[in-house]
Amino acid sequence: MDADICIIGSGVGGGAVALSLADSGARIAILERGERLPREAQNTDPTAVFIDRRYRTKESWVDGTGAAFTPGQYYFVGGHTKFYGTAMFRLREQDFEASEHEDGVSPAWPLSYAELEPYYAQAEALFGVHGESGVDPTEPPRSSAYPYGPIPHEPLIGALAEKLRLRGLHPFHMPSAIDLREGGACIRCGTCDAFPCRLGAKGDAEVCLIDPALQRPNVSLHTGCRVTRLITDDAGKRIVAAEFERNGVTETIRAALFVLSAGAINSAVLLHRSATPQHPNGLANSSGAVGRFYMNHNTTGLMALMPFTVNDTRFTKTLSLNDFYASGAGNIQMLGNIQEPMLRSAVPSLPSWVGRPLAHHSVDWLVMSEDLPHADSCVRVLPDGRTQLDWRRTNMATHAAFVKQTRQLLREIGFSAVLGRPFGLDVPSHQCGTVRFGDDPASAPLDPFCRAFDHPNLYVVDASFFPSSAALNPALTVAAQALRVGEHLKANLHTF
Ligand SMILES: Cc1cc2nc3c(=O)[nH]c(=O)nc-3n(C[C@H](O)[C@H](O)[C@H](O)COP(=O)(O)OP(=O)(O)OC[C@H]3O[C@@H](n4cnc5c(N)ncnc54)[C@H](O)[C@@H]3O)c2cc1C
Ligand code: SF4
Repeated sequence: MDADICIIGSGVGGGAVALSLADSGARIAILERGERLPREAQNTDPTAVFIDRRYRTKESWVDGTGAAFTPGQYYFVGGHTKFYGTAMFRLREQDFEASEHEDGVSPAWPLSYAELEPYYAQAEALFGVHGESGVDPTEPPRSSAYPYGPIPHEPLIGALAEKLRLRGLHPFHMPSAIDLREGGACIRCGTCDAFPCRLGAKGDAEVCLIDPALQRPNVSLHTGCRVTRLITDDAGKRIVAAEFERNGVTETIRAALFVLSAGAINSAVLLHRSATPQHPNGLANSSGAVGRFYMNHNTTGLMALMPFTVNDTRFTKTLSLNDFYASGAGNIQMLGNIQEPMLRSAVPSLPSWVGRPLAHHSVDWLVMSEDLPHADSCVRVLPDGRTQLDWRRTNMATHAAFVKQTRQLLREIGFSAVLGRPFGLDVPSHQCGTVRFGDDPASAPLDPFCRAFDHPNLYVVDASFFPSSAALNPALTVAAQALRVGEHLKANLHTF
């Protein structure tokens, strides 16, 4: 194969760059290891999704101690957004600046919120985000209104919002990318967060980015192509080709420009796997930072119980709270409805006759705090080829205190008890930070446009580039920066 631009990975980052460059006329080949996710009955079946793990990778990774686990990774066209909860947040202005935390400093980004703002607006338009501005005190300035108005709360969630308001808090309608426009395809089906959408109504990267990009004849998508190595020229500077496996056969694609977007963990893995005698620590890695500074949010799921009320809400993810964000504690938002098989998959010893009433009589919340970059928090490739994810969590005391505070708040607004479970290493949903961007090549592999300092024709645009994780869901920020990179590339295509 041969192309002008080779994009590796069809998630948010790769999809947004592909769409930005689609009208440039350049021949763009998107290589994706997965296939299109079939629309089928199992999409909405919690047993198929959580017990049978029908869509999860079967890969085995190891943790820092060498213990094997199967990660919550999904390889399909559209990447992790096929399963995401559709919460489409902009980071807050403070997230772009350095701030002190219990376990150290959350570093500044090499660009300001104001610089990214126009691209946030573009990303919201592409994903058809519904939202409400003017309520959340942490909301940053916006140049335009949300594309669509807020998703109305269903009665139970509306009543909870009112109770929180009466306590002097500022609950707001969560920004969300589901197609609930007039005539839109979303039916508020009740299985959105962590499930794929059977109707194509979820604003995911396949629907909002890849398929529109493919409308152009110069853009092609090649599924089932797992890229295994990037190859440089003799000088070790330019990337000249990518090696990939398709149907058990090794093939090569040559291109003038390579845009890597395999997800924060797999992009670091690929750069490590591409090591040469000239680059023994992997490509783009003269800083030594590739694979380091891995972050994932500190998150805990809470089930707030109400023994005398059945939770019949279908789409729960309409409510969020940022009143504790500015102090460094983090964000509270609704989880999708927890169903009995989901509980059983997390706690296999829990009998169904206990899990079923718990699921029916609970309202489910997600408490999310910032994880700081730590040099020893690493993605590595072991000599036997397996991926090691050695996550050194930070700020856990802050997170524990925030969870305690949230449990107390939930009891105060009427729940009789609150059960909780932190999400672990095997749930790398908000993975980021492994190929960070910055101003200084000594400490960051990428420049502020996500270009590798070491390789002028290599860009990395997935969530790898985050120098800090903030405490809000990452997908909109990945999209915004990739659109910014896309615009920059378009203006400079003649230089590659
Ligand atoms: C269950 C779940 C819920 C979530 N909910 C939210 C939410 O509500 N809001 C939010 O903002 N974020 C959410 N996230 C996180 C969000 O989905 C990710 O931040 C976002 O999708 C990351 O995009 P990306 O482009 O960095 O990577 P990915 O989405 O991981 O895309 C990487 C792509 O590269 C492909 N790939 C990987 N390796 C190779 C290779 N070697 N060769 C070729 N292709 C390769 C993958 O198959 C994939 O398509 C959620 C994630 C999960 C799993
Ligand atoms: S709630 Fe709407 S967008 Fe989400 S899975 Fe159901 S139909 Fe699709």
